This record gives sequence, structure tokens and C-alpha cells, in this order.
Amino acid sequence: HLDRARQAIETHARLVPDFPEPGVAFKDLTPVLAAADGLEAITAALADACAGADLIAGIDARGFLLGGAIAHRLGIGVVAVRKGGKLPPPVIGVDYALEYGSARLEIPASGIDFHGRRVAVVDDVLATGGTLAATLDLLEQVGAEVTDVAVVMELEGFPGREVVGAAGRGRVRVHN
Ligand code: AMP
Repeated sequence: HLDRARQAIETHARLVPDFPEPGVAFKDLTPVLAAADGLEAITAALADACAGADLIAGIDARGFLLGGAIAHRLGIGVVAVRKGGKLPPPVIGVDYALEYGSARLEIPASGIDFHGRRVAVVDDVLATGGTLAATLDLLEQVGAEVTDVAVVMELEGFPGREVVGAAGRGRVRVHN
């Protein structure tokens, strides 16, 4: 599965210089997910990494696309970890710093029993790790047990893996 995923990324991924800010090289995986073989290969590889979970948490916004496809493949449910202000109340949220700017992430505070759930978190790109660390904090606050973090691509030159490892207190496996 990993070889096919790597091939799909090589074929379809786009590098957008200076987006969303000068100096940032934006890895755009949108065309990978838009290709039938790309979506299949990526979700198959990430589903392998999430196999022990009973709930997938997908991070805004490409993590939604990945999360739904992976959860369906594994026969489990999915929840969207959304940018601030999008979910109806009650929500539980966390503010955090990004590679560019700052942001807020929220999950529902009612309607989903997170307590004791084995959750795998998925996203497209791991850079500073701030987004994933914030997500792990959030899920810990609601009593979930995050087992795995799976990303399509890990950017070089960032401490993302270490940041996520620290947020997961060494109990979370990081896959890419
Ligand atoms: P970070 O919190 O720095 O690890 O950033 C991860 C989040 O921001 C992911 O949801 C990515 O979609 C997005 N992101 C950050 N940097 C980049 C980049 N250079 N290319 C593509 N997406 C990025």
C-alpha cells in the first residue's frame, strides 16, 4: 500500500511556492485525492496505520476527506475536528500557533461519547505539529485514548514528529 501511495503522491501532488505566505512551500495534495487511484492508494496506506482505532478524527479540511474514506474502509465512525466557529454548541476548543498565524480547533462537547474511545487522528501534512498537538490535547480533555496519528506527508526541517510525540506523552504512534 505504501509504494502505491508514494507513487500517487509523486504523480499528482503539487508544490505551490509562497502560499499562504511568502516563504511557505505549500504541499497541495488536492489533486492526489481527486485521482481515483490516488485516493484509493492513500486511504489504503493510512487505514493500515489506523487499524487499531474505533473512531477516526479528521482534521480540517483535507483530513475530513481522508478521515471519511479511511473510517468507511475500516468499518468505524469518523468525527471532524473543525476550525473555530463552525460547529453548533456545545463545543470544546483549543487555541494554538500555526506555521503561519494562529488558529482554533473544536470538537463537539455533546452527542459523541469520546470517553475511552480508541481514536486515530488523520491529516494531510505534518509541519510544525501544532495542529496535531492541539488535536491530541482536545481529545485527551474529553477522555479519548489516541492510539495513532497518520499523515500523508511529513515536511522536512520541522519538529512535527517530536511535538506530536510530546503531546501524546509517548503513547501515540506517528505514521506517514
Ligand atoms: P502544522 O500545525 O504546522 O503541523 O500544520 C499542519 C496543518 O497545516 C495541516 O492541516 C496542513 O494542511 C497545513 N499545512 C501547514 N503547512 C503546510 C504546507 N507547507 N503545505 C501544506 N499544508 C500545510
